[in-house]
Amino acid sequence: MPLMLPEARERAVLLTDVHTQLHLDLTSTEDFGVEATISFGCTQPGASTFLELNGGTDVTLDGGPASYSDGRIALTDLAASNTVRVTARMPYVTDGDGMTVTIDPADGERYVCAHTSMDIAQKVVPCFDQPDIKSTFTLTVTAPSHWTVLGNGPLEGRTAGESSDTWTFGTTPPFSSYLFTLVGGPWVSVTWDEPYAPAPGGTLPFGWHARASQGRELQRDADELKRITSACFQHYTTIFEPEYPYADYQQVFAPGLNWGAMEFPGCVVFRDQALTQGTPTELEREWLASTIAHEMAHMWFGDLVTMKWWEDSWLNESFADFMGYDVAGVAAGYTDAWTSAAITRKPAGYRADRRRSTHPIAEDTDKIVDVDTAFANFDMITYAKGNAALSQLGHWLGDEDFLAGVNKHLTAHAFGNADLAAFLDSLDSATDKDVRGWAEAWLRSTGFDTLQVTRDDGVPVLTREGSRSHRITVSAYDDAMRLVDSRDVHLGDEPVRLEDFAGRVVVPNSGDETFAVIRPDEQSWAAITGGLSSIESQLTRAMLWWTAVDLCESQVVPVGDVVALADTHLRPETHPLVFEGVMRALQSITRRYASPEEAAGHLAVIADIARGAVEGGDPALAAGASRVLARISADRDFLVDWLGRDDVDQNVRWAAVQRLAELGDDSWIGPEEQRDKSVSGHHAALAARAVVPTPDAKAAAWAQLMGGELGSHEFDAVGSGFWGWDQADLVRPYLERYVTDGLALARRSGQAMGDVIGDAFPLLPLPVDVRRELRTAVAAALEGDVPTVLARSWNDSLDDLDRTL
Ligand SMILES: [Zn+2]
Repeated sequence: MPLMLPEARERAVLLTDVHTQLHLDLTSTEDFGVEATISFGCTQPGASTFLELNGGTDVTLDGGPASYSDGRIALTDLAASNTVRVTARMPYVTDGDGMTVTIDPADGERYVCAHTSMDIAQKVVPCFDQPDIKSTFTLTVTAPSHWTVLGNGPLEGRTAGESSDTWTFGTTPPFSSYLFTLVGGPWVSVTWDEPYAPAPGGTLPFGWHARASQGRELQRDADELKRITSACFQHYTTIFEPEYPYADYQQVFAPGLNWGAMEFPGCVVFRDQALTQGTPTELEREWLASTIAHEMAHMWFGDLVTMKWWEDSWLNESFADFMGYDVAGVAAGYTDAWTSAAITRKPAGYRADRRRSTHPIAEDTDKIVDVDTAFANFDMITYAKGNAALSQLGHWLGDEDFLAGVNKHLTAHAFGNADLAAFLDSLDSATDKDVRGWAEAWLRSTGFDTLQVTRDDGVPVLTREGSRSHRITVSAYDDAMRLVDSRDVHLGDEPVRLEDFAGRVVVPNSGDETFAVIRPDEQSWAAITGGLSSIESQLTRAMLWWTAVDLCESQVVPVGDVVALADTHLRPETHPLVFEGVMRALQSITRRYASPEEAAGHLAVIADIARGAVEGGDPALAAGASRVLARISADRDFLVDWLGRDDVDQNVRWAAVQRLAELGDDSWIGPEEQRDKSVSGHHAALAARAVVPTPDAKAAAWAQLMGGELGSHEFDAVGSGFWGWDQADLVRPYLERYVTDGLALARRSGQAMGDVIGDAFPLLPLPVDVRRELRTAVAAALEGDVPTVLARSWNDSLDDLDRTL
């Protein structure tokens, strides 16, 4: 039974001082055993409460049968201080929600990872599963002897048994149940002692860990991973006043994780795909650096100070997202991280903010009635828009005051919980500016402003359509798009006349400091589209490329215009993040907005731009461009030729295999599968088989997709392959079945499957009447009973679909 907000509030008042002692036995492959001794205080002796435990069998309480139903263990007639002992057998899972088992296809090794977060910890251990009841955890784990086990606490000892060992971890500081984890398996590791003056001995144990079959990749990237980790850690421990709260810092490329990464205290996990088999593209390298910085920021934002309830998940995610991009740049050397944000991250925020499902960054508490509703709000409002809003806040307040407010917040609520009001109190104490007014305008509202340039007798006038004030850079260019001047502008209710910029091309928000779209005047836009690649700042170019994409998504210009703009100005683009980000955007708008008749022509242009970058010889551009080229080229001989070479990256090889399959030649899948037995190879083969353009292949892929046997990553793979670029006729019978079969599958699955079913929404160039049919089918289903997570995803897809009609 999901925990409802009033229950959580009541229980938070009732319980104090929670300590959890756990022993987990992972030696059986059938299920695992848990023994928990939980002690806690109760403010109202005589009252009753409950522990959550989801999916347990043989559940006992204090040695006898527990009163256990609907995932809750009843605890009655509480004393002022209590100790309860629970034992149970618990199931392993493959959907990434709980104790996730993965068998590595490369070597048959087994890995077990407690992927918790939200309300999933209760699928692993008994707990009071809400953010504002923190517990210390003391953990022992019995597991196969050839494993390494890592958890939130520091490893204190290991005792050998006959075929299994027992690992003992030190007691952690208090943290919320959703942050509990452990991972076990024959990991390969790179470890070191990180200098940290406040630690006993002056250092802390740090490590990176990966599946044994990824050992080569871990060694390849170890120096860079260590360098980023150390640089970020030294930076955070300089800028944040509270000490680093945990006894070590382990980072694990963990299989089966549904999130990109997760900030478990002292034991951060990343999707194992993030340790790429072949050469990572520049966007992937930047993503990993920002994500390392993001998760580390959570050790303070989220783990040390935690939201009270999920409406304030932005206090975790907006901050970590902002810090992730900022610190990857200032500390770890990824100085163009904000350029990647401008062309990949922020656009996702604008798209989310246009949908009906948009919500204030800081949502009303009462709207987040339960965790499923909260799950849907881990969206690009909470991450990307929240990040951009905080970035604007920092720019408006100045770095020093912003950081002073942040430190006040972290210090005042260390090891506790805090909400929006508490955060504003902290900020308010650090500045004279009206932070409550700012929060009302930015955090408590929805939608975004449009910054418009008009001309009054040749003098540019900047106006704001919307309700917020913006502090931005406005730049003036000559007609060849050479920068003439920039100035700092505060734009609010009143228009701003830019007398000095008379006759010049004007670009507002040229430093991409605020969250607002821009609409330059006609004269400026003509010059921009004529000289986009001549603009010196890559950040400004990225922001303007997004503006062009936004004009397409707003149906002001057709897809073909953006593709034509790319034909002229993406070919000379030398910045890998801009190049790759725009390439992604071009494919996305072609999939969504182009008709089947237009799509092939657009793809040919995009493929040719990619080919130019591959042949141009700049390796930073080539890594991303070669994948695009392999994935969309219509030149079979070229693709076959590539597969015959030894020097082609594994990711590119799979893209070529998938494209050949899409073009009707599936003979390359089997041999490539033999060559690459990795997890990523397994997923790539699933995607390639799903895209084969025959009715039999589609029927087989569909049976697999909806059969309920696939793990969430496998489902993603098949779903991503199913809707081929030019398969509108072939997949048409499956459009309606996606709705009916998808709904049936979601009803018998959990959050994670609901999420990937939503992600598998048909995205391919479709005729307008077919899009309307799809729209009707989804809208009809949404009239009925659809699980919360899928309903949110489908409503968003409907909004996106409507923009194309
Ligand atoms: Zn996060």
